[in-house]
Amino acid sequence: MTLYRRRNLLVTMLCVLLGIAEQAGAVGKWITSNFDGIEYVRLTDVWRFYGFNRKQGKPGYTSFGAGNRVVSLKERKQDFYMNNYRYILSYPVLERDGEMYISATDMSKLVDPVLRPNLARHGKITTVVIDPGHGGHDAGAVSAYAREKDCNLAVGLKLRDKLKAAGFKVVMTRDRDFFLTLGERVAIANRTPNSLFVSIHHNSGRSSASGIETFTLAPHGTTSPFARTRRTEDLAGNNQDSENIALATAVHSHSIHTTSAIDRGIQRARFSVLCTIRRPAILFEGGFVTNPQEGSKISSPSYQDTLAKCICDGIVRYICNTKTGSAERPRTGGGSTRTMYSGSGNSRGSTAKNSYGKHR
Ligand SMILES: [Zn+2]
Repeated sequence: MTLYRRRNLLVTMLCVLLGIAEQAGAVGKWITSNFDGIEYVRLTDVWRFYGFNRKQGKPGYTSFGAGNRVVSLKERKQDFYMNNYRYILSYPVLERDGEMYISATDMSKLVDPVLRPNLARHGKITTVVIDPGHGGHDAGAVSAYAREKDCNLAVGLKLRDKLKAAGFKVVMTRDRDFFLTLGERVAIANRTPNSLFVSIHHNSGRSSASGIETFTLAPHGTTSPFARTRRTEDLAGNNQDSENIALATAVHSHSIHTTSAIDRGIQRARFSVLCTIRRPAILFEGGFVTNPQEGSKISSPSYQDTLAKCICDGIVRYICNTKTGSAERPRTGGGSTRTMYSGSGNSRGSTAKNSYGKHR
């Protein structure tokens, strides 16, 4: 097969993947290129498809957008901002011969579902499965300011009440202080029809580390910084990639907007509770119990109530967005006045790795 024919085949495949086969003819062909075994799409073509032009965005980044949508990126970086909220790409943005490229996987599994959430296949959601992480002998992250299992449960119970008041049915994986395995948590979600799954956790790290981060399952075939394996056969995705990222975006952006916490991003992972779930699912990390200021806040009922309201409102917005296709609200005001990662230098790397993976 010639390179030209192969490329045309890939373009067709990508268009089908994105559900844009009809529109593609009108905007010209998307040229895909294989760099180091990974398919990439030229960003010039992507912006033309969305009708984006150069726009003011995140300082130090190249930004494009139209209307109230803005995307900011940087070559060789996996940091990627949409409407000023941080995402971690599966592969870095590349620059080749004066053109910038984004991976086809990131285009179809991240960028397009966020920019066009109305295209996410949205099953009927009547029930939310709330999973307060840890419990019983497993305390999770512990500091002088807070104990994770208690904070997870407190936020989860408040979230339960708010969701019920909003008309949802709720199933708790635990509503008291007891231990259950990750497999038991997943089984509860998988046997609950018309549900989505929210696992609630809090973080530990250096005392300077702070902020909120939200995890969804890494797309099929991709690894993640939190993957335990790089064997291709272990890198399965699931059928809810679009729903996962739309749900994560709604909950995470609302939480960052409301709390003005440091935005540690929407990240990909292969935690046990995300890998085998057959429902739209996120794992929400509401802050660091090991940070003096954030840890004290996390242990207070009023902040726990704020986090629960953020998650509840995010779930409602997810369901509205995937029906109506309304764009995420661009962040304004307090959230944009503070510096990302202020005070910690490298706060991403400061997370205690041993708390990841073992109990999620
Ligand atoms: Zn945890």
